[in-house]
Parts: sequence; C-alpha cells; structure tokens
Amino acid sequence: MKNLILPGAIASLLVAFVLCGQADEAKKEKETIIEVMEKSPEQPKAPVRKTEEEWKKELTPEQYRILREDGTERANGKVYEEFKKQGAGTYYCAGCNAELFTSNEKFDSHCGWPSFYDPAKAKNVKYETDYLLGYARTEVSCKICEGHLGHVFEGEGFETPTDKRYCINGTVLKFVPAEKEAPKQEKAE
Ligand SMILES: [Zn+2]
Repeated sequence: MKNLILPGAIASLLVAFVLCGQADEAKKEKETIIEVMEKSPEQPKAPVRKTEEEWKKELTPEQYRILREDGTERANGKVYEEFKKQGAGTYYCAGCNAELFTSNEKFDSHCGWPSFYDPAKAKNVKYETDYLLGYARTEVSCKICEGHLGHVFEGEGFETPTDKRYCINGTVLKFVPAEKEAPKQEKAE
C-alpha cells in the first residue's frame, strides 16, 4: 500500500509547490508597484497610530519592512523605473495617505531612488538623526503615522532651489496623477 500512497503524496506536494510559487510571484508583483490612485485620498486629521499587527495586515511585507522597520528598497529597481515615468501629480504616504511630495519638486538625481528637493507640505514630514550606517544621516519620516520614508542629504551640488535631496523609498508612496486630483485651493502667498 505504501508504494501506492507515495506517488500521490509526491503529486500533491508538487501541486502545492507550484501554487505556492504562483502566490509568491503575485505578492512580489504587488510589492514592487507604486500604487496609482484614482483620486486624491482624504487627508488624515489626527496622528495615525496602529498596532504592529494592524500595520502588517494593511501593508505589503515590503511596505511594512520600510515604513515600520526603517528598511530600504533595492536601488534602481522597478519602483524607480515607474517613478521616473510618472508625470505630473502628487505623492502620498502609503501608510496613512498624508500628502508628502508633488512632482513639481521631483528631480532625477540618478541615485537609484525617487528624489525630491522639497516636501510639498513640510508639516507632514519629520526629521531625526540616525547612525544606522555608522555616521549621521537625517532620517525623513511621515509626521502623521511615523512611518520611515527615507533620508535627506544636503549640499551635494544639485542644481535645485534647495540643494537638498530627499531620497525616498517609492514603495511607500501612493501616486495621484494631476488629472485625477481634487482641485487644490489656491494658497494666498
Ligand atoms: Zn504616513
């Protein structure tokens, strides 16, 4: 009897393996895409706080690793390619939907990660010094959900109005193309 059962067991293992592989592929696909939204998301009115379990449920594993564990996406990956192709629009936090950057301040730094020279609304971004690589770097996080976004470097010689490079993980951004955005209120300046 044993000999009869064995081929069956091997067959089901094989099926499980193949199905697993497909699920992994689907997951990978999801992880490497900057989510493009159909309209501007509603802005959070208060700080967003969630348990690690809740974050894990809502975010992709890659978004969780970056936002909640200070991770960094692969340089020059698919996300960077997508980012470079995107036209005018606004970038929001994938953790809490807070507006972070607009394409007006986007520039190509050739560093392999999405770069901006100024946040659209400085109030939604906060700064902290970290020493994770053994030297001081300025970490940039979302002020609303405290998710890690990337780092900001200064004085590198880029010909931008600020000479700052916000080096941001595209995986934790959501993009709304300009034509889908809700009309913005004119700022009295
Ligand atoms: Zn956020």
